[in-house]
Amino acid sequence: MKPLYKALFVAASMTFVVACSENHLNDEAMQPQKTSSARIGQPGGEDRCATMKVLSDKLAENPGLARSMEAIEAHTQRFIAMEKGNNGIQKSDNNQKPGNGGGDGKPGNGGGGGDTGGGGTTDPAVTITIPVYVHVIYNNSQQNISNAQIQSQIDVLNKDFRAQNNDKNSTPSEFAPLIADFNIQYSWNTGDLIRKASSKSSWGTNDAVKNRKRGGSDAVAGYLNIWVCNIGGGILGYAQFPGGSVSTDGIVIGPEYFGSSALGSNFYLSAPYDLGRTATHEVGHWLNLRHIWGDGGCGVDDYVADTPMSDGPNYGCPTYPTVRCSSNDMTMNYMDYTYDGCMYMFSTGQKSRSRAIFTPGGPRADFATVTP
Ligand SMILES: [Zn+2]
Repeated sequence: MKPLYKALFVAASMTFVVACSENHLNDEAMQPQKTSSARIGQPGGEDRCATMKVLSDKLAENPGLARSMEAIEAHTQRFIAMEKGNNGIQKSDNNQKPGNGGGDGKPGNGGGGGDTGGGGTTDPAVTITIPVYVHVIYNNSQQNISNAQIQSQIDVLNKDFRAQNNDKNSTPSEFAPLIADFNIQYSWNTGDLIRKASSKSSWGTNDAVKNRKRGGSDAVAGYLNIWVCNIGGGILGYAQFPGGSVSTDGIVIGPEYFGSSALGSNFYLSAPYDLGRTATHEVGHWLNLRHIWGDGGCGVDDYVADTPMSDGPNYGCPTYPTVRCSSNDMTMNYMDYTYDGCMYMFSTGQKSRSRAIFTPGGPRADFATVTP
């Protein structure tokens, strides 16, 4: 596992360097679409998501985090190998074959490592319902978004993570068989909400918004915490991967990117990021998904077998096929950087990776409260 996280750290650090060198992040939505190679390192290259920059910061300040994430990766790869073994012999979910299917992870994955956590990695294949707590931290009345706008975002999550979004029908036939229903749902009650006025106009990515003593609002245990606030720097959102501190666990999204203009009117939203896909993307990270290009070149993996290799994000609304690394990019995947209306699927491999974190011994097992 060591090489994996060394590579990860390097990739995250590189992202950080790129992010620091770009100060003109605000205008991305207004820019014409450029060729894919020209978009790498161009202004706007970092603004959809600051998750890897935040990971880089956290790894630098907390040496234990890499070890924690290594253990999660070992657990995840063990689950995927076991699931693959089960599928290969056409057995039900309960017929796990420990030790089967190992050894064909992708280059750099490092396999299961030395973490022998025991056999309990079977996915019960039930619907997992995740309670959501929303923190609206606002600097003006527009940013104090309505309950209806919040609900529209929850509705988008519930469609996207069940593959019930209508636009999935636009998926090219090459990728259509891979469209995955994660069987994960999100529940939000209007009582699971805090609204807090603040004199702070932008919060950055240092997690101050997650801390009451720093002017923000503390995380509530047992929930997927979502902070809605202006991040600044043209950043739409960021997430924390599984394995980090509970006090900062969750996602952060700008108010004008949280919710869907297709599901209501008079919402404070900013096209072309007005269909709720920033949250789908960030929750994807919260569920341990990487960017579709693995945050590196053609040889750097996103640890998902069925997503084609790529060497960078795609922006705007790419045409199909978009060829990179000698294969067609899955530009319509939620974990790319395209416009909200141009991303509409997760893959089967991504589903396996995310479901693994809810299995016994996984970092979000406590959320899987439904019994098989
Ligand atoms: Zn991201």
